[in-house]
Amino acid sequence: PRRMANSKYEYVKDFELDDTLLPNCWIVVRIDGKGFTRFSELHKFEKPNDKRALDLMDACAKEVLNEFPDVRIAFGESDEYSFVLHKSAKLYGRRSSKIVSILVSCFSANYVRQWSNFFGNQPLSSTPMFDGRAILYPDVKTLRDYLTWRQVDTHINNQYNTCFWALVHQAGLSNAEAQATLKGTDTGAKNELLFSQFGINYTHLPEQFKKGSVIIRRHQEFVAKHQDDGTAVVRTRRVPVVMYCDIIKEQPFWSENADLLS
Ligand code: ATP
Ligand code: ATP
Ligand code: MG
Ligand code: MG
Ligand code: MG
Ligand code: MG
Ligand code: MG
Repeated sequence: PRRMANSKYEYVKDFELDDTLLPNCWIVVRIDGKGFTRFSELHKFEKPNDKRALDLMDACAKEVLNEFPDVRIAFGESDEYSFVLHKSAKLYGRRSSKIVSILVSCFSANYVRQWSNFFGNQPLSSTPMFDGRAILYPDVKTLRDYLTWRQVDTHINNQYNTCFWALVHQAGLSNAEAQATLKGTDTGAKNELLFSQFGINYTHLPEQFKKGSVIIRRHQEFVAKHQDDGTAVVRTRRVPVVMYCDIIKEQPFWSENADLLS
């Protein structure tokens, strides 16, 4: 039904502030799990990396790409995901709170919806929540630097956490002792510690743990229908796929996907 004449209360609408994101800039929405240090303990995540939890994050992010065509690429690690919206995106008139809140709720709702696909009968015993923010990047260089920053972070955290949990689980150190042991060590010393003390070759760890998850769309063939004589009609559509690969260097990812940020 059509709205009737304005009421005298409509002036309250003017208290809403304009949060339109600048035109022609790349939009990054980064979401991050609330209190996942506790959440991961409560749900007995394997340390340092629970693959079920990472795969669940990736599945939720794929749904975000299915729902929002403006998202060109996403990058995830730990309890966070970054979604890159094309600079020309018109979604919700580029209103920041609208875009952030709808992406966060798409992700959170899927986390609940798909929990049992990854954790089986283990109950979801607290409410998974995610915060979100939108950041604008004025050009592709800065955007690429943003993605590089996140993937470098993945490596630093993974290397630290792998050492930390080896010291705790395998060497029997307390959390505080493990922390003290690692204080001030550089990346070479950490790899050396992993290898000499625990026989772990860092380069042999799963790519998903070392590099995080990259999601882009790829063409995939599917059977659209069957004709009366039974022949399959094959069409292609673009579906989100998860990759565990380097997005810092130009080769091969960016040269193979040159259209991603065009
Ligand atoms: P905040 O609400 O401020 O984000 P937080 O506890 O979520 O607090 P983060 O810095 O986001 O802090 O860290 C995420 C935590 O979740 C880390 O402690 C990390 O070890 C844990 N975590 C996330 N994903 C996994 C996973 N797949 N396997 C094991 N631990 C995980
Ligand atoms: P937008 O995405 O712009 O919000 P919308 O379709 O959600 O679009 P709203 O203005 O939010 O539009 O209106 C909510 C719609 O949902 C209305 O059509 C309303 O009738 C319907 N709706 C919401 N709750 C109920 C309910 N409990 N019972 C019946 N209809 C409902
Ligand atoms: Mg945080
Ligand atoms: Mg968090
Ligand atoms: Mg985090
Ligand atoms: Mg409404
Ligand atoms: Mg509505």
